[in-house]
Amino acid sequence: MAFTLKAAQPVGYDLVAEDGRIARIRTDMDYPELARDLGMQVCCAESYGSDDCEHASVDQHIYNAIQFLDGLLDEEFEGDEYPAIEYYFVDGGTL
Ligand SMILES: [Zn+2]
Repeated sequence: MAFTLKAAQPVGYDLVAEDGRIARIRTDMDYPELARDLGMQVCCAESYGSDDCEHASVDQHIYNAIQFLDGLLDEEFEGDEYPAIEYYFVDGGTL
Protein backbone atom coordinates (compact mmCIF):
# COMPACT_ATOMS: atom_id res chain seq x y z
CA MET A 1 0.00 0.00 0.00
CA ALA A 2 1.47 3.29 -1.02
CA PHE A 3 0.49 6.39 0.93
CA THR A 4 0.96 10.13 0.77
CA LEU A 5 1.37 12.68 3.54
CA LYS A 6 -0.96 15.65 3.14
CA ALA A 7 -1.60 18.79 5.15
CA ALA A 8 -4.97 18.51 6.91
CA GLN A 9 -7.34 21.43 7.43
CA PRO A 10 -7.47 23.30 9.69
CA VAL A 11 -4.54 21.61 11.43
CA GLY A 12 -2.63 18.38 11.35
CA TYR A 13 -1.63 15.84 8.78
CA ASP A 14 -3.47 13.26 6.74
CA LEU A 15 -1.99 9.96 5.72
CA VAL A 16 -3.80 9.11 2.49
CA ALA A 17 -3.59 5.50 1.36
CA GLU A 18 -3.75 4.68 -2.31
CA ASP A 19 -7.05 2.88 -1.70
CA GLY A 20 -8.55 6.12 -0.42
CA ARG A 21 -8.41 5.53 3.31
CA ILE A 22 -7.36 8.55 5.34
CA ALA A 23 -5.77 8.60 8.77
CA ARG A 24 -5.83 12.07 10.32
CA ILE A 25 -3.28 13.12 12.89
CA ARG A 26 -4.56 16.31 14.53
CA THR A 27 -2.86 16.42 17.87
CA ASP A 28 0.54 18.07 17.91
CA MET A 29 1.65 15.70 20.67
CA ASP A 30 1.34 12.92 18.07
CA TYR A 31 3.56 14.61 15.48
CA PRO A 32 6.89 13.39 16.90
CA GLU A 33 5.77 9.77 16.74
CA LEU A 34 4.50 10.23 13.20
CA ALA A 35 7.78 11.85 12.20
CA ARG A 36 9.72 9.02 13.77
CA ASP A 37 7.57 6.49 11.94
CA LEU A 38 8.39 8.30 8.70
CA GLY A 39 12.12 8.12 9.32
CA MET A 40 13.10 11.07 11.50
CA GLN A 41 15.95 10.24 13.84
CA VAL A 42 14.94 10.53 17.47
CA CYS A 43 17.43 12.27 19.74
CA CYS A 44 17.47 9.42 22.24
CA ALA A 45 15.76 6.20 23.12
CA GLU A 46 14.19 7.70 26.23
CA SER A 47 11.93 10.01 24.30
CA TYR A 48 9.44 9.39 21.56
CA GLY A 49 8.96 13.11 21.47
CA SER A 50 5.93 13.23 23.72
CA ASP A 51 8.02 13.87 26.82
CA ASP A 52 10.86 16.16 27.77
CA CYS A 53 14.21 14.45 27.61
CA GLU A 54 17.67 15.64 28.55
CA HIS A 55 18.16 17.03 25.03
CA ALA A 56 14.93 18.77 24.22
CA SER A 57 11.56 19.86 25.57
CA VAL A 58 8.28 18.54 24.23
CA ASP A 59 7.81 21.82 22.37
CA GLN A 60 11.17 21.38 20.64
CA HIS A 61 10.32 17.82 19.72
CA ILE A 62 7.05 18.97 18.20
CA TYR A 63 8.75 21.82 16.37
CA ASN A 64 11.37 19.45 14.94
CA ALA A 65 8.67 17.03 13.88
CA ILE A 66 6.73 19.77 12.07
CA GLN A 67 9.87 20.80 10.19
CA PHE A 68 10.46 17.21 9.18
CA LEU A 69 6.87 16.44 8.24
CA ASP A 70 6.37 19.66 6.28
CA GLY A 71 9.34 18.62 4.16
CA LEU A 72 7.56 15.41 3.23
CA LEU A 73 4.18 16.84 2.21
CA ASP A 74 2.75 15.39 -1.00
CA GLU A 75 5.48 12.77 -1.21
CA GLU A 76 4.43 9.23 -1.93
CA PHE A 77 5.81 6.48 0.30
CA GLU A 78 5.94 2.75 -0.16
CA GLY A 79 4.06 1.20 2.76
CA ASP A 80 6.37 -1.81 2.82
CA GLU A 81 9.21 0.48 3.88
CA TYR A 82 7.20 2.09 6.69
CA PRO A 83 5.44 -0.79 8.44
CA ALA A 84 4.40 1.30 11.46
CA ILE A 85 2.18 3.45 9.24
CA GLU A 86 -0.33 0.65 8.71
CA TYR A 87 -1.38 1.02 12.34
CA TYR A 88 -2.54 4.56 11.74
CA PHE A 89 -5.31 3.17 9.53
CA VAL A 90 -6.73 0.83 12.15
CA ASP A 91 -10.11 1.80 13.67
CA GLY A 92 -11.60 3.34 10.61
CA GLY A 93 -8.83 5.70 9.75
CA THR A 94 -8.23 7.77 12.83
CA LEU A 95 -5.73 7.43 15.59
ZN1 LIG B 1 16.63 13.12 23.86
